[in-house]
Amino acid sequence: MAQKWIEKTEGIVRADFAYWVGKYMDKFYDGLEKQKIVGNKCPSCNKVYVPPRKVCGDCAATIPLDGEWLDLGTKGTLLNFTATRYSVSERRKKKSEKTTIIGLIQVDGSDTAVIYPILDAQEQDMKIGMKLDVVWNKKQQGTPNDIKGFKVAGGA
Ligand SMILES: [Zn+2]
Repeated sequence: MAQKWIEKTEGIVRADFAYWVGKYMDKFYDGLEKQKIVGNKCPSCNKVYVPPRKVCGDCAATIPLDGEWLDLGTKGTLLNFTATRYSVSERRKKKSEKTTIIGLIQVDGSDTAVIYPILDAQEQDMKIGMKLDVVWNKKQQGTPNDIKGFKVAGGA
């Protein structure tokens, strides 16, 4: 007589992992670790990328790793935004009482945009084109989370 063992378990498996982001993003994250936002410039059409890219999205030229890198400072312009009561990174979470403003931000001196929360801001006060300052997290680790978000320039 054959025995058949069946075991069923439900739960969440946590699987930590690490992967290499490549030489271009490595340089970008090294910059964040020093509280600098760096971008790279296309040698053909002069478009400045933040985050940096290896191939220009406009003219398809290869941007050399040892090409022109720019320290762009920590200011930007709000290109667009949305207000949400749902978490961006944790899809299982339920709707919260707190509204989060997520901005599409063009770092000054770049031709692209990054997406970060706009901190301590009210939806009704947001205006496309307003100036923003980066807010760094307390501990820099060379990750996208080194930037906590942006705040309205001149704001509290
Ligand atoms: Zn180009």
